[in-house]
Amino acid sequence: MRATIAATAAADGFIDRWGIHERGILPVPIIQAARWSGWSVQFIGGMWPAMGIAYMLPNLRRIQVDENLAACWQRTVIAHELGHWLADHRGIHHCVSTRVVKRSAKEMVADELAARLLVPEWAIERFPMMELATRCQVPQALVDLRIGTCDLLLY
Ligand SMILES: [Zn+2]
Repeated sequence: MRATIAATAAADGFIDRWGIHERGILPVPIIQAARWSGWSVQFIGGMWPAMGIAYMLPNLRRIQVDENLAACWQRTVIAHELGHWLADHRGIHHCVSTRVVKRSAKEMVADELAARLLVPEWAIERFPMMELATRCQVPQALVDLRIGTCDLLLY
């Protein structure tokens, strides 16, 4: 666990506010929840090595995601950018593949919160571990991070 108690509480508040961990509903409607909370979400090309960019400015909440990523990774990137916001990392974030740049502490916090948003507690209790990535429509690496079998999300 790297996220602060405040950041974790902010993530749980976001989950409750939009009801995105309602039992039986998978995958978590993360794109909709981002838009409900005032973010514009754009899918664009030519971003590599960035997978996503978040603009967290006083008058702009915009998430840009690489349109060429698999859907499960797009969902992860959007949740990751929301993680920066929930952890109060203001400014502009270029979130880059770990194949290119070593993960900073802030990036790892955003990953941890992304896993919390996308893999609900009830799903962990209900489904076999082997099914979680498919059920939640996330990469296996995000499930591993969520359940603690891995402490670094490899992109
Ligand atoms: Zn990031």
